[in-house]
Amino acid sequence: MEKILYTLDGASFTVGDTILEYSYLLAAILFVIGLKYQSHPETARKGNIWAGAGMLLAMLTTLFLHKNDQGQAIGLINMLIIIGVIVAGSVIGAVIARRVKMTAMPQLVSFYNATGGAASALVAIMEFYNPENKAVLVTLLGIIIGTLTFSGSMIAYGKLDGKVGDIFSPVMKYVNIGMMVILAGLTVMFMVLGPDLPYRNELGILLIALALLYGVLFVMPIGGADMPVVISLLNSFSGIAAALAGFIYHNQAMILGGILVGAAGTILTVLMCRAMNRSLLNVLVGAFGGGGAGPEGKEAGTIKEISLSDAAVLLSYTQKVVIIPGYGLAAAQAQHICSDLDKLLTGKGVEVKYAIHPVAGRMPGHMNVLLAEADVPYDKLIEMDDINPEMPNTDVAIVIGANDVVNPAAYDDPSSPIYGMPIINAHHAKNIIVMKRGMGKGYAAIENYLFYDDKTRMLFGNAKETLQKLVSEIKTL
Ligand code: NDP
Repeated sequence: MEKILYTLDGASFTVGDTILEYSYLLAAILFVIGLKYQSHPETARKGNIWAGAGMLLAMLTTLFLHKNDQGQAIGLINMLIIIGVIVAGSVIGAVIARRVKMTAMPQLVSFYNATGGAASALVAIMEFYNPENKAVLVTLLGIIIGTLTFSGSMIAYGKLDGKVGDIFSPVMKYVNIGMMVILAGLTVMFMVLGPDLPYRNELGILLIALALLYGVLFVMPIGGADMPVVISLLNSFSGIAAALAGFIYHNQAMILGGILVGAAGTILTVLMCRAMNRSLLNVLVGAFGGGGAGPEGKEAGTIKEISLSDAAVLLSYTQKVVIIPGYGLAAAQAQHICSDLDKLLTGKGVEVKYAIHPVAGRMPGHMNVLLAEADVPYDKLIEMDDINPEMPNTDVAIVIGANDVVNPAAYDDPSSPIYGMPIINAHHAKNIIVMKRGMGKGYAAIENYLFYDDKTRMLFGNAKETLQKLVSEIKTL
């Protein structure tokens, strides 16, 4: 029997217990430092290491110092199983993270959200069927939030990967509200009737099935350009589910880690909602616009192209250029050559800035991460609200692989699924060069009349190759 160090409120603590509790406090501090560093692309990598160290510390001390209510440590067999699973998970995670292409990163994030939700749901499901479990509400919330995070994130993964389409019908809104009411009703029933509830085990399975279905139905209708909101919302749900699992096990590190993810995800959700000009309530009932076809009927006008040599001359002998990057820049991996163009023009005395839309690309902060990789100085990355007033004084706006985030339909077409979303005002610039492969649509799958604007010239081709040719052309001038 280990020596009791002290007792508090009737509970006794050994040296091991005390080290365990302090290690959780230290882990929490490391999480907070990590989160602080992660808030800037320059220090984000360091932030991952600090938060990872906190997680490693919490896992190791739990493994070796945790005791159950009877004061027993983790048995050898269980310990071996846990270590085996951690090693297997780490190897799989490392291989996937190394292999995944930068453009598939958003899918990976969704997949990780799904696994986080599933893990927390499994903890809650085990406790639901544990007759000694007292934390009924926390367990039920853990099942519901964890399960819907899993199924919702898997659908989000499929949508980002282009494997799952949108299903939009106005009825879905009412179905989703109905599902929420049924889930709340079941929760109240479990709470009020407790273990005496007839068919409790079967109703538990029904609760899991309904939460799974709700996750699917809640993400399915979200189309248009509204996925960023739902991705950050699911991210915050995965944190809340982990915190709930932590409550079930009285594990402070899990509670704190989960709350931090939940809070950071919630802040991101609010910011994304603002960026998309949507209300959070609409997200929760899945009342977004679907990927409508856009104003196809309207006369589109004609497309005008620009030759590489004309583009090179236009850019070289101008004063102010704003580069507007989008998903196509990431898809083409053209960030380095884009930075070369920037340096070349800057060397010629041209003022070059980047206009960063909060939902450009396929994940929050996508463009910042991409351009940071190419060593573009942070002070050149200008947020949408700050760059828009400068657009009328911009000689050339170069749109590289961006589409939805520069689509003026957001301002002037109430029938458009992106109506109301703030955009980068590329159309206010004196000249606009658009680099894309063809007339392919963006994520929202709608027509973009910017491409038919009188001031717009198209430079067709893969962004990386076009930029390479453009840079060579400018060098010959
Ligand atoms: P879009 O998806 O609107 O458009 C990208 C454009 O890039 C396409 O029109 C495509 O045209 C072009 N493109 C693709 N590959 C290449 C290539 N190799 N070279 C050159 N061009 C290429 O991108 P935006 O960044 O403007 O907008 C992002 C959209 O994604 C928004 O609707 C946003 O809501 C949504 N979204 C954002 C998330 C986020 O968190 N940031 C998450 C999920 C969705 P073409 O085929 O003709 O080349």
